[in-house]
Amino acid sequence: MPDLPQDSIFTLNRESDIDQFLHSNHKWVNSMNSAHPVLFDQYNGKGQDPHTLLISCSDSRYNENCFGVLPGEIFTLKTVANICHADDLSLLATIEFAVLQLKVSKIIILGHTDCGGIKTCLTNKRKDLPSQNCGHLFKYLTELDTLVNDVNKKNENNFVDLPIEEKSKILSIKNVENQFNNINTIDTVKEGISNSTLQVFGMLYNVNTGLIEKCV
Ligand SMILES: [Zn+2]
Repeated sequence: MPDLPQDSIFTLNRESDIDQFLHSNHKWVNSMNSAHPVLFDQYNGKGQDPHTLLISCSDSRYNENCFGVLPGEIFTLKTVANICHADDLSLLATIEFAVLQLKVSKIIILGHTDCGGIKTCLTNKRKDLPSQNCGHLFKYLTELDTLVNDVNKKNENNFVDLPIEEKSKILSIKNVENQFNNINTIDTVKEGISNSTLQVFGMLYNVNTGLIEKCV
């Protein structure tokens, strides 16, 4: 468990009951209505017209809000370690929905620093997952484990001697590049790029600062 401050700034916790979730929802609706009185009634209530598909990690520390957008702007798929297997039915369906039905003009693959999936492979803890009843996660992280082994083996710029946070960030960027390449093999994406209706970007969110940098 991370060492977080005792007096939490967070809204809910593991002990919160469902009434507290609903109460929190009401407070959020009130704040949204104060800031954007027309959002629900005149925009979200009439349908969605998102401009972008965001594919990010399932990590709780970031989502589409890091671009400062409102509900209705970004269509989102979150996967562990933002892995995009080109044969993943959920990914393919999401891309078809976003690109062909909703006509988004951009796909952004947004990885992040301090990624748990990457760190699990980097610290050689992936091998312990099957004994922790996490066999699916073990299998799912195979691609990242291969990436970690490759980067260690190549040892460019003395990678093996770097502090773990630096290693982790380098691997997060390489993972974004790999997922960017995976996405670009999908027919729907290739067609969108070739007819100039779609652009694909790979980016990294920094959990320490909230800032985003472009990778590819
Ligand atoms: Zn992650």
